Amino acid sequence: MKLITTIDALPPALSASISTEERTYIEGIAARSGLPFAVTSHFASLAGPEPDDPIRRQFMPDPRETQCDPFALNDPLGESCHRATPRLIHQYADRALLKTTAHCGGFCRFCFRRVWVAETARGEWMAAPFITAAELEPVLVYLKDHPEIREILVSGGDPLTASNERLEWLFQGLREARPGLRSATPGLREARPNLRIANSALSLRICTRLPITAPDRITPEFVGLLRRFSPLRLAVHINHPRELSPKSRNALTAIVEAGIPVLVQTVLLKDVNDNVETLAALFRECRDLGLIPYYLFQLDLAPGTAHFRVPLKQGLALYRELQGTLVPAPAGTELKDDSSSVPLIPAYAVDLPGGGGKIRLSEESIAGEEERPEGRVYLLKDRNGKLWPYPVE
Ligand SMILES: *Cc1c(COP(=O)(O)O)cnc(C)c1O
Ligand code: SF4
Repeated sequence: MKLITTIDALPPALSASISTEERTYIEGIAARSGLPFAVTSHFASLAGPEPDDPIRRQFMPDPRETQCDPFALNDPLGESCHRATPRLIHQYADRALLKTTAHCGGFCRFCFRRVWVAETARGEWMAAPFITAAELEPVLVYLKDHPEIREILVSGGDPLTASNERLEWLFQGLREARPGLRSATPGLREARPNLRIANSALSLRICTRLPITAPDRITPEFVGLLRRFSPLRLAVHINHPRELSPKSRNALTAIVEAGIPVLVQTVLLKDVNDNVETLAALFRECRDLGLIPYYLFQLDLAPGTAHFRVPLKQGLALYRELQGTLVPAPAGTELKDDSSSVPLIPAYAVDLPGGGGKIRLSEESIAGEEERPEGRVYLLKDRNGKLWPYPVE
């Protein structure tokens, strides 16, 4: 995939909008081993030249990335505590996450895997290291040994930066590790239907931003590939209604029309989408496209991203307001227990810094407040009542 990696390759209006500070900063990233500057021409074409443009802010390196954040963690989700193999994170009993590649369709400046992506992507990053057979082998062994895992999140980076052939090889490998009855033993499912529960195929969840940043990646061949690997869902990262360009709408519609459920994950970002109008418009449009708003994430504590952080109390107030604004589905389309039921509002959630896992956020999540050497923190309750700090500001 061709990415824009220099200022001069940007659309003229954008490259003319670069300030001296931005230029100096961008040109120094490689020397400082920071997260590279890269954006697709499609995503750049959606951006306006103003420094506060919500699309521009998401990919344009910002000198504030060098500001020291006392709360920053290189591994904000504590993934290293739950690493089953170098590529596999097993944190929740029935699902696990596979890091397939560090390559993305451009780099989001607020990326939660910022350090991992930058470290892996540096240098040879155009040659994107996709998971190799030697790296997949222990993953497959682990999956065979852990039948409680029912779903694999195929994540990265962005797995769709790999070719259809690579993805097919990966999906096939995962399926063969745990084939389920249908493909394993024809006839057995009919003979002993209750076995299916204990031995059903591993479900796949493909986590990607490419339908937004590079909608041309969603070819009919790719949609066909997804269909062949049902049960499979797509989780698409979308932050702003302006990301839903006509091309992206077409791409997402093609996936939905192929019968593939599409979840939407949104990151709450200061001065990008931290207001009710923007979020309500985003979730309404997603719903109208047949997508399922799934998570609205409070920002993780990756280094160099503090200027994107919306204070937690403000996020909670925003979420409450959003619930009041987004009326339930109109009469006659009540939510049913099937794939046509489309919740309009995602869960507001945070990955507790340091490995506490994902929790849904509400006022009740805050068990207290405390002064720490790095600053004032809330104490957030995880599912087991254990407390984890998250900065107040
Ligand atoms: C987010 C996440 C999952 C999936 O959690 P859901 O609540 O099902 O979306 C699984 N594993 C890891 C490590 C995760 O971070
Ligand atoms: S697409 Fe995801 S992994 Fe890639 S830079 Fe953006 S947030 Fe990070």
